Amino acid sequence: MERPVTGARDRIDTSTAHSARVYDYILGGKDHYLVDAEAGDAMCRHWPALPVHMKENRRFMHRAGRYLARERGVRQFLDIGAGLPTPPNLHEVVQEVAPEAHVVYVDNDPIVLAHARALLNSSPEGATAYVDADMLDPDAILGSPEFRALLDLGEPVGLMIIGILHFIPEPDDRHLVRRLLDPLPPGSYLAMTIGTADFAPEEVGRVAEEYAQQNMPMVLRDLPTATSFFDGMELVEPGVTQVHKWRPGPEQDGIDDAAIAMYGAVARKL
Ligand code: SAH
Repeated sequence: MERPVTGARDRIDTSTAHSARVYDYILGGKDHYLVDAEAGDAMCRHWPALPVHMKENRRFMHRAGRYLARERGVRQFLDIGAGLPTPPNLHEVVQEVAPEAHVVYVDNDPIVLAHARALLNSSPEGATAYVDADMLDPDAILGSPEFRALLDLGEPVGLMIIGILHFIPEPDDRHLVRRLLDPLPPGSYLAMTIGTADFAPEEVGRVAEEYAQQNMPMVLRDLPTATSFFDGMELVEPGVTQVHKWRPGPEQDGIDDAAIAMYGAVARKL
């Protein structure tokens, strides 16, 4: 399932900041350039809680993936906006529960493609693949050989849209999420996190301005808008909450609500 990564490096732009690399920098990773670190530092000056917020977004992905594998028996996943590999990645989380699980990763950043090999170290019983595609072009994702080979559309799929929706502009955002859900059978799940300025409006607004200045315009959504993405689906308890309040563990103890600018939810397709 491995795709050649040659050529990816030629497409990497080191002169402007990229969301995947800023996220990597703030999470303490190594796969970023000076521009990304500078952008990350500027954002943290605007909002010192940003690292907590980003870490909790990542931890929501871990809990939601584990929940779907363990409690709901989901064995195949489509992860849109995979990000730079940071252990544990989704396949590591779900294959710990079910080694036979399949995961198809999608991202549009060439540097993520260049590092994709770290996402392809599947357990021998399972399988992972990487698709270099854009969420704005769902046909490229749904028509890819990796999607067709790894995901059996007769069985439920966990669609993960984590930490990316704030880069997807309105008004097509809703339609794009639906297009990805459409081919998945009933009993499939959508796990999604949705950026919001509901809790620290000034600080988060300044971070959004900084992203926009770096050519990464951001859409922040209020609770009714976030909730409406799950219309017609059955929300898993506790519904749409800030990510640190969704089925929290001991790691979430004491986190200040004002540090978290992300709603998260998991819902079942009827
Ligand atoms: N899902 C991971 C990473 C989030 S970072 C996590 O939550 O930990 C956001 C990722 O979305 C980045 O890797 C970025 O490259 C990717 N991304 C942003 N816009 C995208 C688009 N239109 N299509 C595909 N990927 C996109």
